[in-house]
Amino acid sequence: MSSALETLRRDFGGDIIEPGEAEYESARRSVLASGSPACVLRPGSVGDVQAGVGFAAGAGLSLSVRGGGHGFPGFGTNDDGVVIDLGKLANIEIVDKDRHRVRIGGGATWGQVAAALAPHGLAISSGDTKSVGVGGLTLAGGIGWKVRKYGLALDSMVAAEVVTANGEVVRASAEENPELFWALRGGGGNLGIVTAFEFTAHPTTDVFHGRIAFPASEAAGVLQGWADHLRTAPEELTSIATLANPLAGGPEAPVEIHMVFDGDDPELAAQAIDPIRRLGTVIDDDVALKPVADTLVDGLTPPPGILLVTRSAFVDRESVPEVLRILAEVGASERPPFIAVRSVGGAVSRVPGSATAYAHRQAELMFTTTTAGPKPVVEAARPAMEAIWARLASHVNGAYANFLTSATEEDVAAIYPPETYERLTAVKRRYDPGNLFARNHNVRPQ
Ligand SMILES: Cc1cc2nc3c(=O)[nH]c(=O)nc-3n(C[C@H](O)[C@H](O)[C@H](O)COP(=O)(O)OP(=O)(O)OC[C@H]3O[C@@H](n4cnc5c(N)ncnc54)[C@H](O)[C@@H]3O)c2cc1C
Repeated sequence: MSSALETLRRDFGGDIIEPGEAEYESARRSVLASGSPACVLRPGSVGDVQAGVGFAAGAGLSLSVRGGGHGFPGFGTNDDGVVIDLGKLANIEIVDKDRHRVRIGGGATWGQVAAALAPHGLAISSGDTKSVGVGGLTLAGGIGWKVRKYGLALDSMVAAEVVTANGEVVRASAEENPELFWALRGGGGNLGIVTAFEFTAHPTTDVFHGRIAFPASEAAGVLQGWADHLRTAPEELTSIATLANPLAGGPEAPVEIHMVFDGDDPELAAQAIDPIRRLGTVIDDDVALKPVADTLVDGLTPPPGILLVTRSAFVDRESVPEVLRILAEVGASERPPFIAVRSVGGAVSRVPGSATAYAHRQAELMFTTTTAGPKPVVEAARPAMEAIWARLASHVNGAYANFLTSATEEDVAAIYPPETYERLTAVKRRYDPGNLFARNHNVRPQ
């Protein structure tokens, strides 16, 4: 490998970080995982990405591609392989003012995007955390604060520039390489390295954002009322309900309804939000008008050795009451996982399930359970978690790749229904027949 690395060094314009160098200690980590890669490459240009891909393929080394590094399974690092960290490719440029078209480097974070677009009165339907990467979040979905009005982050993506496994640069859009464009919208990192995304942004300045909290004892009624309200509420309202927050008392923690009303008209906002205030005994309410960029929070980096195990599923309309009933019970149990239930539906459901490789369009809700702690604690909680998921199994479907620590074949089958997987396999065969891009919820070329 060392001679290949010397050859790479000749033309590579970015950083090459190897064990023993001062920067290696931080470069080897992604946010939720640590590894011991043979080297970390930080390309400074698309040409560097091509060179990095050629180097990893030629050396036969395992390849991790790191965007924002927030992936739960820790695909952004590895042992003994190559990491291509896209952090330097974070340029954000408005390319068409009239059509609100924005070009974003494949290693940018959503906080950088929000800060760059705010002065232009624009925002993109993304996520809720500044440090999360545009790459990972978009390629697998993107459920954020504008999801009911504008859909997933990938629904606002109009083109991508991709370095494929053979080192070629390919553009994908509805007109150019449309099958690759279909696959990139949900297929995760399977198809290549996206060096730049193009999105349509949405005119936005201030929005109503905050949370309304109710006592834990009222969780069951609040959750049912919340889900009923969202069915008819204006799509400007997007919301997440959380239960059993371990930092706020676990089973005793208030049930919190977090929300964004995507607009600055106080009367319209009140019409959408007041029915939530009437769902129970309000113990806290900090909903306020604020700049849209301020709705994103800073992410937490857990200390080394602390694992975060998250699992997700979708809920169709007919199963909503039963699932929320079970989740309220689980939240009140002795050692509950942290539970977050996100409203989807709206604009997400208006896109046909076959239009993108993200297929779970029919769901009304997506929820996650998360346990955290040192390995023995997480292992000890596993049987209880499995019992919870066994109770839920007949009422839920699929899995959302962006909130899924595990990456077994069963998990991949939950993310991709059979017809989606088959179509993805065909695109994978064309663009990555040797499965160079395997550190993801992997679609096998064969
Ligand atoms: C604190 C926190 C908050 C979150 N909030 C939300 C939320 O509000 N909504 C939501 O939908 N999700 C959310 N997520 C989940 C998040 O979308 C996923 O963790 C996602 O994988 C993170 O992307 P990343 O680029 O930061 O991670 P990485 O670990 O860098 O990448 C994840 C995967 O994407 C691939 N990848 C990344 N960039 C590229 C690229 N440019 N080209 C090709 N492949 C690439 C990687 O190879 C890897 O397989 C959150 C996660 C955390 C930890």
